Amino acid sequence: MKKATVRIPYMNKRADENTQRLLRWIEDFVNVGDDPASYNRFVVNHPSFSPVEGWDDSSWTPKAHKLFLAYRDCLRRIWRRENPSPYQVEVAYLLGMADSDTGDCPWFLREAWDALGGKGLRTTWVAPVWNLGEFIYYWHTDFQHAVYLLFRDSWRARACERCSKCFLADKPAQRFCSSKCFGEAKQRRDLAYWRSRGAERRKKRRTGSRRITNRSQRRIPS
Ligand SMILES: [Zn+2]
Repeated sequence: MKKATVRIPYMNKRADENTQRLLRWIEDFVNVGDDPASYNRFVVNHPSFSPVEGWDDSSWTPKAHKLFLAYRDCLRRIWRRENPSPYQVEVAYLLGMADSDTGDCPWFLREAWDALGGKGLRTTWVAPVWNLGEFIYYWHTDFQHAVYLLFRDSWRARACERCSKCFLADKPAQRFCSSKCFGEAKQRRDLAYWRSRGAERRKKRRTGSRRITNRSQRRIPS
């Protein structure tokens, strides 16, 4: 086991360097493509960022690709809020609180684990602290630590309304992953307005100016 988590105030916390790095990595993880080349690129850049314990550079074999995708899809569903239930069993798996023996284990995780012979599966530990009336979560991997950080600030997990990419919002009102997507969405909105309500207004303006012209013509003394 590594170290116990420190209680982090819900808002207004200044993320330290490690927190920012882990959040960046989990954002990279959730956006990795389906193809083996994307998987290879990710594991070369983040060799220690594994959902299961005891993995090193050599653990990321083509066979482990299936497990990687199973965790990525699990995380994507939570990130995109595709499951409306307030209790999401998949979060327990991402945090390592449940293993393949648990009754409600998602089939895709069980299948991926079985393919690897259950390597590195050890459940994390949540310790009750009697004097504080609190629980302390002990993580095994950087991945689990990153999921925990996200769990504490889950409002930050968003899907871009323009390109669908999963991203971490800096402000509650943020709806797009980048200024590029924001700009494109604004352009589309402006164009749609120009075509619908704008056309109506232009028509009204043209009709109005014609009426004024007709009135002024009548006023001209013969
Ligand atoms: Zn986007």
